Amino acid sequence: MTIATTPAPLIDPFARAIRYLRVSVTDRCDFRCTYCMAEHMTFLPKKELLTLEELDRLCSAFVSLGVEKLRITGGEPLVRKGILTFFQAMSRHLDSGALKELTLTTNGSQLARFARPLADLGVRRVNVSLDTLDADKFARITRWGRLSQVLDGIAAAQAAGLRVKINVVALKGFNEDELFSLTDWCAREGHELTWIEVMPMGDMEEQVRLGQYWALSEVRARYAERFTLTDLAERTGGPARYVRLEETGQKVGFITPLTHNFCESCNRVRLTCTGELYMCLGQEDMADLRAPLRAGPDDTPVVQAIRDAIARKPKGHDFDYSRQQVGGQMTRHMSHTGG
Ligand code: SAM
Ligand code: SF4
Repeated sequence: MTIATTPAPLIDPFARAIRYLRVSVTDRCDFRCTYCMAEHMTFLPKKELLTLEELDRLCSAFVSLGVEKLRITGGEPLVRKGILTFFQAMSRHLDSGALKELTLTTNGSQLARFARPLADLGVRRVNVSLDTLDADKFARITRWGRLSQVLDGIAAAQAAGLRVKINVVALKGFNEDELFSLTDWCAREGHELTWIEVMPMGDMEEQVRLGQYWALSEVRARYAERFTLTDLAERTGGPARYVRLEETGQKVGFITPLTHNFCESCNRVRLTCTGELYMCLGQEDMADLRAPLRAGPDDTPVVQAIRDAIARKPKGHDFDYSRQQVGGQMTRHMSHTGG
């Protein structure tokens, strides 16, 4: 009699089961958001990038090790050539039941084209980053983006039956005045809303960065002036915490890596478009999975490299703005690690 063996799941040294993989499929983007990229970015040469087949092999290895949720990100994931082929490949894991969710984070610029095919491949939800509803401000913050294009993309997502969550980076002096208008718009349109604290990624000058920082504790306090807030117990294993605005019933999320420590329940790791596995967004340690992948068709060394990496997952990050200096500063761009 042969006994079928399922590989042991990925458990890190702090007994956290790794169920969630975020995958950056490209470092490129059609926008140049000021808090994310320099205007003139140098992108990676193509040969450095994992091919779509390599991405499939790696993600499938993670799924075989118990990863149940895949979030595709970038750069802008929908500008990667042939991206639907990759979504199609991943949808077989949805069909088999191994994968519970396949989703993406996008700037929305290409959604008018991609929303329907993505929905057809089993995507149910999409996170769209949108920091302002003012067309001029949108052009300023994204440098290269057009608001109408993103709003059309969001409408197409809704028409295709996708649930939309709007991610807003909280930026002092930029979208403070839109707190309630953005909130009301999301309520009207039926979108979830999550605020994100700006993180010390990339190469922005320290003073600019500190000047942009709008603590979500302040955002929360502003909400409390108008609404009764109820903390929700809901947890996603990530940094988001949710409240309900009692007067409207709307749920609002806060991603506060800087004002709260969320690491104890972290169930995720991040794969870059070059095959580096980051066990923590806020630490430099990573494992190169591309070398074992390119060594040959056998996945055994790849799986071993994944296991060795998870065995080094740190307890948490060191981001800290509390002493009016940027502590735990990372030189990587968010578009590299995949936000
Ligand atoms: N291009 C896609 C998008 O914009 O949604 C996906 C990649 S982008 C790097 C993922 C998320 O990271 C976006 O919501 C973006 O606003 C956020 N982000 C980028 N740089 C950030 C920073 N320095 N601090 C906080 N969030 C940041
Ligand atoms: Fe591009 Fe997203 Fe970075 Fe903006 S936040 S530059 S859309 S990768």
